[in-house]
Amino acid sequence: MFDVLIRGGSIVDGTGKSAYKGDIGIKGDKIIEIGDLSLAESKEFIDAEGMVVSPGFIDTHVHSDAVLLTNPQHPQGLMQGITTEILGQDGLSYAPLSKKNFLEYSRYLKGILGSPPEDMKTASVAEFRSNYHKKTAINTAYLIAHGALHLEVLGFQDRRMSGDLMSRAKDLIREGMEQGAVGFATGLTYHPHAWSYTEEIVELCKVVSEFGGVYVTHLRDVNTDRAIGGGGIPEALAVGQLSSVKVHFSHHRTAEKTAGKVNARMSLIDQAKSEGVDVTGDLYPYPTGSTFPMASMPSYVHQGGTQAILDVLSDKDGFKQMSDYFNESNRLSKILPDPESEKASLQKPRDHTLDLDDTILTFVPGNPEYEGVPVKEAAENMGMSMGEAMCKLLLDSELCIGFWGTPPDNVQVWDQLGKDFIEILSRDDFMVGSDSIHLGKFRHPRGHGTFPRFLGRLRRKYDLISLEKIVNRVTGTPADRFGLTKRGYLKTGFFADVVVFNPETLIDTATYDDPIQYPIGISHVLVNGTIAVSESKCTGKLNGYSIP
Ligand SMILES: [Zn+2]
Repeated sequence: MFDVLIRGGSIVDGTGKSAYKGDIGIKGDKIIEIGDLSLAESKEFIDAEGMVVSPGFIDTHVHSDAVLLTNPQHPQGLMQGITTEILGQDGLSYAPLSKKNFLEYSRYLKGILGSPPEDMKTASVAEFRSNYHKKTAINTAYLIAHGALHLEVLGFQDRRMSGDLMSRAKDLIREGMEQGAVGFATGLTYHPHAWSYTEEIVELCKVVSEFGGVYVTHLRDVNTDRAIGGGGIPEALAVGQLSSVKVHFSHHRTAEKTAGKVNARMSLIDQAKSEGVDVTGDLYPYPTGSTFPMASMPSYVHQGGTQAILDVLSDKDGFKQMSDYFNESNRLSKILPDPESEKASLQKPRDHTLDLDDTILTFVPGNPEYEGVPVKEAAENMGMSMGEAMCKLLLDSELCIGFWGTPPDNVQVWDQLGKDFIEILSRDDFMVGSDSIHLGKFRHPRGHGTFPRFLGRLRRKYDLISLEKIVNRVTGTPADRFGLTKRGYLKTGFFADVVVFNPETLIDTATYDDPIQYPIGISHVLVNGTIAVSESKCTGKLNGYSIP
């Protein structure tokens, strides 16, 4: 007697091998039998005739660390077929942090993560993981966040990590890895970790490497004079070379100005791989990104954290200085080479800039009427320059603002980029990270659409990768890379994380104009044997584990 029996589906098992017809018998949280089970008995049945049955999808880059706890049902992930999310991304998360530092960093990160419960446990990776275990609808894995580590060891200060401080940091990484972290994540656009030097990251990654963990990196474009190779791709590869750590590039793809140049974008990576560096990456299928504008303020202003930045903006001269800085950043964004161009990736990447003309506000809790409005328009409305408007909005929302970049209006660019994204995912070293930021009415559509867009819309349109292979990229490949035990494949003895979908109708419906739209074509999602989505509706069951 099974607990759940999925009958008659086409099984795409996560290995990349051809689909086959069969039934899947589940008991407790595991798959216990696969084959012809037509005569078997079960408490519940799922009819998968005409559908594909695959392992649950694994999102390797997502910013739901706080949102998962305030809305543990997490429909925006679950309804896409996501059964596991890897947290701690860009180094922006909450462990290990003392209570005081947690309050400081959660305040600082509100524009990208939202507000976590104040009683969240963060003192160690083990405690952090307990916040999620069997309390959310999906599984979570954790990468020790570089930002938290820097704050805990050095404070919100531009200081070197060396001597006893370095020993303390390495101990925290060792302890975190022993407590089940799957690696270490940084984002060298963001503070306080953007103050670090490559040599420090290499030292930290030596410990990550001892445990077989992964170094996940959002590339540096701040304080590039502190980086081997000037930051960007060369620095990330140097960390792999010098520490032997596995390197994983976050959201690595082409964009509007680099459309069609996949080979150029990958050339340094492929060269390093041929020299023995272990590299993988992830991407999401949209032309522009989304983040929080505070990250675009000059590095020195971040010293002292949120209150220090608010103090600068509240001061008349400080306000003018920051407004000028934003306006200058906007000007430079148009004359410096694109950060993702071949030239920039081969040579010194340019420093961080923000193209305000191309920025749409997505999350503005202090002035919600500006959500979905271009900064340019908000500025006209306010009778200010764009730099001044940005500073005023930051002040009004206590720095807690999000934005996305305007997507290209040229259909051919969209088409080329869609093709590029599928071409990148055809590589066996790439997987999918949605980079979801679940805040505001006009959040980026990637939060609701990434997986169905890849597996449905783009796969069918470009026909460059088989269904079996693309399923492998979102299941078996990430499970192997991040050491997620008994996940990522439909095999007996493995955890029953399962998605049932129609490969012909599966499609995303979220757009930049209307981003909070659930996809079509996924009928059932199981997480650890529990039916979490039934007939395309969330069941309310919260049986996600903290893994690996
Ligand atoms: Zn990110």
